[in-house]
Amino acid sequence: MSTVCDNYRRVRETVDAAAAAAGRKKEEILLLAVSKTWPVTDIRALYDMGVRDFGENRMQELEEKAPALPPDIVWHFIGSLQSNKIRKAVKLASVIHSVENVSAVERLDRICGEEGRRVKFLLEVNVSGEASKSGVPADDFMPLARAAAQCRNAVFSGLMTMAPLGASRETLDAVFGGLASLRDRAEKELAVSLPLLSMGMSGDFENAISHGSTIVRIGTAIFGRR
Ligand SMILES: *Cc1c(COP(=O)(O)O)cnc(C)c1O
Repeated sequence: MSTVCDNYRRVRETVDAAAAAAGRKKEEILLLAVSKTWPVTDIRALYDMGVRDFGENRMQELEEKAPALPPDIVWHFIGSLQSNKIRKAVKLASVIHSVENVSAVERLDRICGEEGRRVKFLLEVNVSGEASKSGVPADDFMPLARAAAQCRNAVFSGLMTMAPLGASRETLDAVFGGLASLRDRAEKELAVSLPLLSMGMSGDFENAISHGSTIVRIGTAIFGRR
């Protein structure tokens, strides 16, 4: 149990060092503990040392874990968002990282209104263009961002992406730098504030931080191999 805490502290130190190397403040980077597949006892150990933000990628798992843990945990939903699961996401999560089409945006906004919840959401962008990756293609991003900016209940807060596994430095620069550019463009053209850039996982978070990541989503480096 203490290993996850030790791992978390070690990753946090690496995040802070990467922030310093990029001339950024460590306080602006959230280390999101991606607890998918791991038991509530591991989450509880991190909670007891002060960690509050956890990420899950399956609604059923989130539904099982959330009631078994303290109510002040900030749950982030990072998995593929099926339309029939959006109400559950709204009830359980504070931040949804994985909105990727206009119908999900509209449904999310309507349900947030019905439930009286101002959930933050990010648009997931497939910057790398890999066929296997989820997210809106970069070419279709601006129309989706325009729809997201119309929301009255759900809060359009930023962008999310995943880089290809084991990508080269050049590819990481293109993917993470590309997401930051799309964010800058949307902020300018739509006159909105999009403070959240969710990018970087166990294998690539230092590069993501150099490109402005404000949420690194870390599973393996904290909890171990799934
Ligand atoms: C599992 C997962 C992560 C964490 O990946 P690690 O490589 O284990 O750190 C991050 N983001 C998403 C969307 C995931 O599904």
